[in-house]
Amino acid sequence: MAHIVAKGAANYLIALNHNEDVLYRVCTRYPSLRENNAYNIKNYDYIMQVIPSAIRKYICPIELVELDTEIFKRCSNVPIKAWDSSSVACFKLKNLVPKDTKPIKLDHYTKLHIGNKKIIWEFKPKWLSQDTAYCRNCTLNNLRGHSIPYCYAQLLEDSKIAEVINLIFKDINVPEEFLIDLKAYLRSNTNVLKIIFIVQEQVDKSLQASAAGESIDHYRLSMTLKDLTCFIEWKPESPIEAKIVDLDQKPSDKLDCWAELRNQLETFHDKVTH
Ligand SMILES: [Zn+2]
Repeated sequence: MAHIVAKGAANYLIALNHNEDVLYRVCTRYPSLRENNAYNIKNYDYIMQVIPSAIRKYICPIELVELDTEIFKRCSNVPIKAWDSSSVACFKLKNLVPKDTKPIKLDHYTKLHIGNKKIIWEFKPKWLSQDTAYCRNCTLNNLRGHSIPYCYAQLLEDSKIAEVINLIFKDINVPEEFLIDLKAYLRSNTNVLKIIFIVQEQVDKSLQASAAGESIDHYRLSMTLKDLTCFIEWKPESPIEAKIVDLDQKPSDKLDCWAELRNQLETFHDKVTH
């Protein structure tokens, strides 16, 4: 029996037979299963071949598998309208959230999973590399009415790390040791945010230099890297471990939306700089 464990904007995470250690990530971007399958198969190659290797090192291992459609059809509320294929092409992956943790949603981009002697911090860092005079993350939050008092781009500045981490976790009962370890991790040059920043910056620079014909694919890659999700796992006795998920290729029909959003941000009266 299948059940939904989590829903993203364009995919669902599904567990089988009450075993939530292993998850199946099903694409729900399109109304037709056939279209979702084709997208997922292409996506698998994209993640393995196009995503830069510095980021790929952090990917949680995934396997492309085909499962009987009947398994998923019985799962209620999956927004696929046409079950026009006999199999579902999906990603099989390990659940990064241990079952003995409790989820806490902090804001639009951040969730915590807190257990006994373990904390998983799940978040979307968004735009770490920025080419605007204002902060794209904070300005977009204002535009959309999200009241989020911190910005992940500020975690790249050593002098701001303590302040930002204290703000993120201020209402949550976490061990002092967790906060100390996290701040030390974020000050290290090899932390996952610094790696994401470097790769985002490299891709953006090559986007500016690319020929017109190549630039759409570069742009899509740039936007994929600005919408990935990080899982940072802390346990008192082990070094912090980071994983990255959500590296799907962005569809080319999003180009107009992105251009429109950029215009809205450029003309928005309440820009944030820091
Ligand atoms: Zn900001």
